[in-house]
Amino acid sequence: MITNVKAGPYTIAGVSLAGIHTSLQVRELGVLFDAGIALRSTAGAEHVFLSHGHADHCGALVSLLGMRGLMRMPPPIVYMPAEIAPSTESALALFGQLQRHEFSIRSEPMLPGDERALRPDLSVRAFRTHHTTPSLGYQFFNRVQKLKPEHLGLSGKEIGERRKRGDDLFDVEERLELAYATDTLIHVLDTSPSLLTTRVLILECSFLDERKNLASSRAGGHIHLDELLERADSFQNEALVLMHFSQMYAPGEVHRTLERRCPPSLFKRIVVFAPSKGPWPG
Ligand SMILES: [Zn+2]
Ligand SMILES: [Zn+2]
Repeated sequence: MITNVKAGPYTIAGVSLAGIHTSLQVRELGVLFDAGIALRSTAGAEHVFLSHGHADHCGALVSLLGMRGLMRMPPPIVYMPAEIAPSTESALALFGQLQRHEFSIRSEPMLPGDERALRPDLSVRAFRTHHTTPSLGYQFFNRVQKLKPEHLGLSGKEIGERRKRGDDLFDVEERLELAYATDTLIHVLDTSPSLLTTRVLILECSFLDERKNLASSRAGGHIHLDELLERADSFQNEALVLMHFSQMYAPGEVHRTLERRCPPSLFKRIVVFAPSKGPWPG
């Protein structure tokens, strides 16, 4: 039932089908993207990132918390668009009354541009996505210090001495590791162009051919493959994970259509987040 793919150095596991349910775990980062379905094997993620308030992305949050309670795990940190934080917290309080057991989370309301440190070597920044309700994407990066080019010849001892004197020897560089953008217009690549150079980009591509026209794809706040093809040369990612396909396509058809329609230069980067054959799970 669960799809498992390798994208660059990351393992991505979960389920994603437009309008039905989406929830993906990146094990190496300890993060879960969306909770449209609660899966036993991915419920342990410490950091949960909600993209927006549609049921196929957050409807199973209570089930997820129930599973974690059963596993005696601490409340997860749930990052979400600031606009949906009050209603998410109220909904959880009501479900707590219903079950007579509190569903607690550590709520992290986020605005575009907000940053949080997950670990000393890993931070996340929220960015605006463009959907029919308030929505966010998330970009993970680490900041590394690099010796300024003019100091490259210094020995370790000299570097140590100069640092003690308070000399500014380093440039700070951000390594963009992974980003998640779902339920958004293609315009997100204009408003957050660094997505194109992020090592692994997880991106929705709800519609794949003429069975859905561009106007109605855009009206729903989604990406059509035609729009990705127009920008095929701009993607510089090591891996472009496409997900959130419409159920109007069978999983095998998704694979075949992407292979047929994408130029080889784009297709070589694409990781299809869908079963390779058979029906959609569920
Ligand atoms: Zn969706
Ligand atoms: Zn949506």
